[in-house]
Amino acid sequence: MLKIENLTVKSGDSVILNDISLFIKENERLIIFGPNGSGKSTLIKTIIGISDYKVVKGKIFFYDKEITSLPISERAKMGIGIMFQHPPKIYGIKILQLAKCLSEDEKEIFQLAEKLKVDEFLRRDLNVNLSGGEIKRVELFQVLLQKPKLLLLDEPESGVDIENISIMGNVLNEYIKEKKCSALIITHTGYILDYVKGERGCVMIDGKITCQNKPKKVFDMIKLYGYAKCEECEWKQKKN
Ligand code: ADP
Ligand code: MG
Repeated sequence: MLKIENLTVKSGDSVILNDISLFIKENERLIIFGPNGSGKSTLIKTIIGISDYKVVKGKIFFYDKEITSLPISERAKMGIGIMFQHPPKIYGIKILQLAKCLSEDEKEIFQLAEKLKVDEFLRRDLNVNLSGGEIKRVELFQVLLQKPKLLLLDEPESGVDIENISIMGNVLNEYIKEKKCSALIITHTGYILDYVKGERGCVMIDGKITCQNKPKKVFDMIKLYGYAKCEECEWKQKKN
């Protein structure tokens, strides 16, 4: 459902993503690991179409339609939903107001808000005066109301306490199973993998995909040997 071919992305003069190719099938979850600054968030933001980044080579397809140059709103309408690593604060827009733009079903809004424990924030300005973990729950709330077919999750568990990771993980897993939704999930801690089954995992280093295997296997190797070992991975040797 998502196919990326030889994608090279720049911000200003710097190349951030360098000739990336990857795919995600229908009802499949791809997990991306990688050190800070390797380009993971840039990849996700390029898929949704954030304008800070310039695609200088390559193409992105969603359900066989090329979306490389489509505006972000079109990509969202087609069914791509994003949960940002650092979502912005927006003064003057209440979380509930936004939720009502995303879903017409008030019952669904309040049920999901309760499940994600964001019901007490609904009348606050978007992400204003919320803790890091609360912001993440509000992000998940918004993205699930959009009912995406492809979820782009940038470190969904970062800054969230263990109890709330379990709440988010269970809600996410339920959504994925019910909608047979595909996902690209970036994680450092791997906690989310206790709740969401990832079929494939890969590692991004210096704007390139260096390794691919079962997510748990990749994660265990990173914990044992660090990211350097990923650069020696058999997958890369086969590819080259
Ligand atoms: P990751 O999510 O893997 O930690 P990012 O994709 O956020 O990495 O960033 C990759 C690299 O690109 C970093 O060196 C970062 O400083 C740089 N970068 C990201 N966004 C921008 C931008 N808008 N302008 C300039 N440099 C950027
Ligand atoms: Mg990031």
